[in-house]
Amino acid sequence: MSQPSNEPSFRESVDMMFNRAVALMELPPGLEEKIRVCNATYTVRFGVRLRGQIKTFTGYRSVHSEHMEPVKGGIRFSLGVNQDEVEALAALMTYKCSLVEAPFGGSKGGLCIDPREYEEHELELITRRFAYELIKRDLINPAQNVPAPDMGTGEREMAWIADQYKRMNTTDINGVACVTGKPINAGGIQGRTEATGRGVQYALHAFFRDPEGLKKAGMVGALKGKRVIVQGLGNVGYHAAKFLSEEDGCKVTCVIEYNGSVTNDDGLDIEALKQHITETGGPDGFTGGTFHKDGTHLLEKECDILIPAALEGVINLSNANNIKASLIIEAANGPVTAGADEILRDKGVVIIPDMYANAGGVTVSYFEWVKNLSHIRFGRMQRRQEEARHQLVVDELERLSSDSGIGWQLSPNFKDKYLRGADELELVRSGLDDTMRNAYLSMADVWHSRGDVTDLRTAAYLVSIGKVAASYRAKGL
Ligand code: NAD
Repeated sequence: MSQPSNEPSFRESVDMMFNRAVALMELPPGLEEKIRVCNATYTVRFGVRLRGQIKTFTGYRSVHSEHMEPVKGGIRFSLGVNQDEVEALAALMTYKCSLVEAPFGGSKGGLCIDPREYEEHELELITRRFAYELIKRDLINPAQNVPAPDMGTGEREMAWIADQYKRMNTTDINGVACVTGKPINAGGIQGRTEATGRGVQYALHAFFRDPEGLKKAGMVGALKGKRVIVQGLGNVGYHAAKFLSEEDGCKVTCVIEYNGSVTNDDGLDIEALKQHITETGGPDGFTGGTFHKDGTHLLEKECDILIPAALEGVINLSNANNIKASLIIEAANGPVTAGADEILRDKGVVIIPDMYANAGGVTVSYFEWVKNLSHIRFGRMQRRQEEARHQLVVDELERLSSDSGIGWQLSPNFKDKYLRGADELELVRSGLDDTMRNAYLSMADVWHSRGDVTDLRTAAYLVSIGKVAASYRAKGL
């Protein structure tokens, strides 16, 4: 999506937001620069024989900060991939991991390709070749650099990368931890695919538990019934829209895709729309709403919550003034440019920043990495023991009730819920919810207590940069 030419690049935008925050901190001389700059970016050009000819591809892996290792960050397949973008995304990963206390430095990768143009077997060849180039330079390695899915990639690509690593490192017992976001049968974890969208939902729950935050956004009431616009019905947008509409009673009144949009003021059926898009390639022809050929202007439609979940720079100097939402939650990375951020702040719009809003993905990736290194599924040791202890309590209560003649009966619903030990999915969701709540509280504390901090993004940067700085100081830097 094109941005006005008078706007800074994505990386400059991230740096400007960083600079705004560090101006409010007292960092030792030089440390600010050390944290801000990207340590290294590796560019690779490789050829793959496809359809009878050799096709050359360009890919990047950028390492922003190694204050903690491994470094972590997704691999994106998109025609828009370039060095500036990958470096901006790698920087955001550093701040994101720090904010949610995932013990990683920041990294990001990208391949300049439109995955829709290739057959599955061609994509496998390309992905494996790209992975080969990165693995042989330790830019994919369970101890040093661990990618994950991002735009245009998913669990299928992660399984190819993991398999490629294992072929090249046959004796590495932790090899499967070289990448996260894998399918369950290739070492993945329950709940990773939904994790970023689920994290967006938990972030909104945290926001709606914060009366002061709601007041600053000029919002009242609960999440239920709020009108939501979602841009991008991919992994992140689809899961966020699905959970918010099906579980929290929000009305998703508009979904914007690259090839058209649909609106329905009574709320769209997200599952039906997703199925339609998967089957036909786009929202055109969907009968559950009104189709619009070009939907980008619909970011400006009246709503309570706007969820950009596609790509960066979509809310910029050209449309920021027209945005009607009271709350923007940045499910995508960098959807609001630095210039738009300023306009929206002046208008009183609250922005839940990307480094927090979409941190659900890296949080559950962290759980997957830990699972891979411990070689055991979460809950396997304690689940049945937990159930047995709960059964003891239930039996004892029923015995006491019967012996004393009180005759209380525990409801079957209570017993069902109480007796069931947590499986991996429940544990992952619990860990994610805990992470999103704690990170929100740490940002909100700064936002509400410091007179010089007027927005959540600056608060998020202050918390995360503070932690990165502490980690450098502990190393003697
Ligand atoms: P995805 O490829 O699954 O989905 C992206 C969606 O956006 C697709 O449906 C695509 O058609 C749509 N889209 C592309 N260009 C568009 C345009 N111009 N207008 C409207 N829609 C457009 O990608 P994803 O994994 O859901 O990632 C989306 C965003 O979330 C990216 O910014 C990514 O960096 C960020 N993110 C993803 C994860 C993750 O776990 N996948 C984690 C953190 C952040």
